[in-house]
Amino acid sequence: MVTVAGTATSRGFVSGPVFLYVGDRDAALPEYRLPAEKVGAELARYREARAETRRQLEGVVTDVAARVTSTEADIFKNHLVILEDEVIIASIEKLIREERLNVEAAMRRVVDGFRKSFERMNDPYLRERARDLDDVERRMLRVLTGRAETALSQIKSPVIVVADDLTPSETVSLPRRYILGFATNRGSATSHVALLARAMGIPAVTGLGDITSRVKAGDHVLLDGTNGAVTVNADRETREQFARLIWRERELMAALEESRQQPCQGMQVKLLANVQPGIPFGSLAAFGAEGMGLYRSEYLWLGGTDEPTENEQTIAYTEAVKAVAALGPDARVVFRALDIGGDKMVRGAKAKEANPFLGNRSIRFLLSRRDVFRAQLRAILKASACGRAALMYPMVATIEELRQANAELIRAMEQLRMAGIPFDDHLPVGCMIEIPSAALNADIFAKEVSFFSIGTNDLVQYTMAADRGNEQVSYLYQPTNPAVIQLVDRTAQAAKRAGIPCAVCGESASDPILSVLWASLGVTELSMSASYIPVIRKTLRSVPPADGEALAGEVRALCATAGAADIYAHVKAFMRARVPDLEELQSFFAPVGADR
Ligand code: PEP
Ligand code: MG
Repeated sequence: MVTVAGTATSRGFVSGPVFLYVGDRDAALPEYRLPAEKVGAELARYREARAETRRQLEGVVTDVAARVTSTEADIFKNHLVILEDEVIIASIEKLIREERLNVEAAMRRVVDGFRKSFERMNDPYLRERARDLDDVERRMLRVLTGRAETALSQIKSPVIVVADDLTPSETVSLPRRYILGFATNRGSATSHVALLARAMGIPAVTGLGDITSRVKAGDHVLLDGTNGAVTVNADRETREQFARLIWRERELMAALEESRQQPCQGMQVKLLANVQPGIPFGSLAAFGAEGMGLYRSEYLWLGGTDEPTENEQTIAYTEAVKAVAALGPDARVVFRALDIGGDKMVRGAKAKEANPFLGNRSIRFLLSRRDVFRAQLRAILKASACGRAALMYPMVATIEELRQANAELIRAMEQLRMAGIPFDDHLPVGCMIEIPSAALNADIFAKEVSFFSIGTNDLVQYTMAADRGNEQVSYLYQPTNPAVIQLVDRTAQAAKRAGIPCAVCGESASDPILSVLWASLGVTELSMSASYIPVIRKTLRSVPPADGEALAGEVRALCATAGAADIYAHVKAFMRARVPDLEELQSFFAPVGADR
């Protein structure tokens, strides 16, 4: 028996036989020098293989768009872009022509060079995109060498897939109903397999190092996606313990489901899902999401090599508004306008800024690039004709920015009206509160918007002047600092006075303790990764509204004297008295990985 620790990527406990998938990336490739007279034929072989790969990819795009989602199909559209990349093609042809290398060897050399540059990038999301390059290379090599399609599509019974890492092509070729779990050597929270596993609710552990060399096909493994561990050929005692964990998890799930069915006596808060293009929306209803409270549109830009066109955006947004109808008659998608800059850079973005988090981010970027802004607004408006949608602006610091953004919206509406294109002309427009200046001026903003959505991830960073991604200052990342609490309180009270809803859509919404704190201060909606909704629902339902009001009074008083840790401990003690199994629920269902 051996237990290997890795990264908890998609929670849950599962046991089953191993399907060991050894990709063909490391297979030995033919490498030889061509006689001069064969160079022309080799160039032709390369071009024919590229044409065949293009045909295959076009087929995959159509198939995936029909079977999965159009945003997943975009991954393969990007593969087409990589396949036709002029620099890559010229470099490969140069090696064939000048060094007389065979195609396979020339391609491996060029792709290795590009892969290294991707892997050196700081942004984990971009680093992960080296997998797309691998995927295109593998597909080309299969065409060149005549090797069969990946073995993953041959899976015919329930298995735990153990692999080095999976490319997007491999992931979409999986017969999903037979996949119990994933265990991979590599991969991160933003790898394709991680996103897919979380979206489908399949347990997964990534970053296991050399798990592929520690198991054989057919070995029995216990996979703990909640704590990030895989045990191979466990002894009887360990298996029994694990079986008890599986049962306990099922009991807790059943209890969560039951609490969902019962009439709510506790705090009334709408629970919404944070979503992003590229992830299937199918599981949102099972978690009980009442809508999509934050649609992170920037992922359409981050995932691709080019900016998404207005038409591509319209298709993606329409898909979301159609899917949201399954969550209830009032359910809607809150589209957040492009939140780019800071830690999320578009490929090929110009001018490096010394202080990107304080720079040309989000609404500032959009107001400086009206062409991009207007195209996005038109795409959201067009989608709004097909279902319930709302729009919100990120990173608004001043009332003038809000007014300028709304003026653009009116212009976009006029353009569509002139063209006879339908849209919802009562589209609700809200504003994110994630900068202290907006929170302090919440009364002014509340008169001009239909809702607020507090982005605590940024509000904490800007209040505390502590970079949200910098480990060295993470001790200052304090959602319960009295300064942050007062800003949330002020915003929620301004919303209440104006009669508009006030949401929290930062990660703090999925912390049971903080969810109760925000609700007690008057926050009316919480938006989070859908899988955390059941625990948050049970937690909120355990607090009678009158107790919530008392808690708000206690916390307001504490803000005059206490620090963040004491306030958190105070709310936790309050919760422990009402939800005795709070800690156990957290240990089974606490957020694993990041939701983006
Ligand atoms: C936030 O800042 O809390 C938020 C939801 O936005 P993001 O994390 O995408 O910046
Ligand atoms: Mg933010």
